[in-house]
Amino acid sequence: MTSLAYVVPKMWSAPTLDGQVVGRALSVQDTGSHAPVVGVGPLVRVLQVREVGGQKIGVDPFSGGRLAILSGADAATAASSQYVIQRFGYSATATKTLSMTFDDGPDPKITPELLNVLSANKTPATFFVVGKNAAAHPEIVAREVREGHAVGIHTLTHPDIASEPTWREHVELVATGRVLRAITGQQVGFWRMPYEGGDDWSLQTSIDGVLRAQRLGYTFSSHDFDTDDWRYEGNTLKGDIPLPNLDSGANITMLMHDAGGPNRMRTVEYVKKLIPYARAHGYTFQTMPQVQPALAANIHPVTPTAADYETLYVVKALFVWPNKLLSALFVFAMLAVVLVGFGNTGLAWMRYRRRRRIVYPVPRTWVCGRRWCWRPSTRSPSSPARCDRSSARTTRSWKSSSWTTAPPTAPQRRSAR
Ligand SMILES: [Zn+2]
Repeated sequence: MTSLAYVVPKMWSAPTLDGQVVGRALSVQDTGSHAPVVGVGPLVRVLQVREVGGQKIGVDPFSGGRLAILSGADAATAASSQYVIQRFGYSATATKTLSMTFDDGPDPKITPELLNVLSANKTPATFFVVGKNAAAHPEIVAREVREGHAVGIHTLTHPDIASEPTWREHVELVATGRVLRAITGQQVGFWRMPYEGGDDWSLQTSIDGVLRAQRLGYTFSSHDFDTDDWRYEGNTLKGDIPLPNLDSGANITMLMHDAGGPNRMRTVEYVKKLIPYARAHGYTFQTMPQVQPALAANIHPVTPTAADYETLYVVKALFVWPNKLLSALFVFAMLAVVLVGFGNTGLAWMRYRRRRRIVYPVPRTWVCGRRWCWRPSTRSPSSPARCDRSSARTTRSWKSSSWTTAPPTAPQRRSAR
């Protein structure tokens, strides 16, 4: 009990906060369900709006730190609202950058195929991994980091997080962060919300999820181009996955998936077309932290702690080992069915052989050969061939005897008497 009381609080604490005390929790009750959405970019945060010297200043609602000045169209959109949802991101020097992002992995079959394509084309990407998948395939996550890709958090079990209670979101983010620390030796402080749509309405309706993660120190990483690859794979949408329009030269962050569907190879084939297409338009491929300064500040090397490894093993015990045990039990059950089937067949055959050896009482007046017995006749049989089921010795005995009739069609075996 003592060790549990020591370990659980360590596993529960968010490493992103590093012991920092944050302000009180906020919810949609505080911000309203239609907080104005301002700014552009693939990152998302909630700002508290304050008037300072005639300017609208956006501050972090938990730490109180000054984050942005809302001016022009953003100030007008914010109007008199106390809170706004701000899109932001891209460094001032980023031009014609394309960030490929892949959600839901790693997948043991698709992700290595995708990594091979990325490696062959020397294109970095960003993977938002599901914690339980990462715990199941740590070698793939380690390869992603080793080959220069960025890895972010996509929760532990991929729930609709905004509608889950606060404790659940805490566990989903912190546990996945600790799993990644244990596997990669990196502190990861950015995440992507499962099922997020990227549009204003989607952000407003999931603001509880955004606020809770922001309070724990995780930066919400959205996208600005959705390939809808999963819809084409499921044939909800027909034809090929469309390539983005890159004529404007704008920076772009694309949403794709490397796991979670029946045929993610369509996404891999799409990436093979996307890479030469984007390069032909003068684009360079970058990870999200490479072009998002806020994310670069949220990822750095660490030495994994005991709490990180304990979290990894707890996640394995809950989500990985039971599946392996079930698989082993399934194989055992199949083997048992086959072995029992063969066993029953063998027993049936032995029983059949034994039944063939059943000895019927034979009258003492009958004559017995080595294997068969028959009734003597007073006259010779019409054809010796009629006893062809008996042995040669029996036939000889039969031929040398006198019989009233031929031996039975199915000659009876010698009595044990
Ligand atoms: Zn997802």
